[in-house]
Amino acid sequence: MEQTLVILKPSAVERRLLGRIIDRIENRGLIICGMKMMQLDEKILREHYAHLVDRPFFPSIVKSMTASPVIVMCLKGVDVVNVFRTMTGATNGRNAAPGTLRGDFCMSGQENIVHASDSVENAKVEINRFFKPEEIFDYNPSNLNFFYGSDELK
Ligand code: ADP
Repeated sequence: MEQTLVILKPSAVERRLLGRIIDRIENRGLIICGMKMMQLDEKILREHYAHLVDRPFFPSIVKSMTASPVIVMCLKGVDVVNVFRTMTGATNGRNAAPGTLRGDFCMSGQENIVHASDSVENAKVEINRFFKPEEIFDYNPSNLNFFYGSDELK
């Protein structure tokens, strides 16, 4: 099954939204394969946001993403990269659809509470960036057949 990398950003940690976000992840049937708290620094953010390093607001991203520890998560599910991007919503919370995490919990383009990998290829790179192999637990819940039809898991 596919995996994706999620970061619950300082805006989620500081606002004590962790439980509500994890509740939605579990309600949807996504499997948590890895989860830990860590303090990000500029070095890892320069890798993670390499596509934004030259933008004028990059220092502001670093300040925001290092303001408190974050929670990093590895989620598993069929098509989980797209499923969780859809659950996350548009980058700017003011444009995010109601029902999405950003659309329900934030009003900002920067303080937008979650990161979600945007492709299967990037998810693999990002999981390796934030987790050691032994920190990922690729288990299947015993009742997986109540979350998916058997054909969907092939
Ligand atoms: P996404 O997080 O939706 O994949 P991007 O990869 O474009 O979006 O941007 C990464 C993060 O950088 C955003 O989630 C947001 O926190 C921050 N960001 C993006 N654009 C801006 C901006 N114009 N000003 C401030 N922060 C921004």
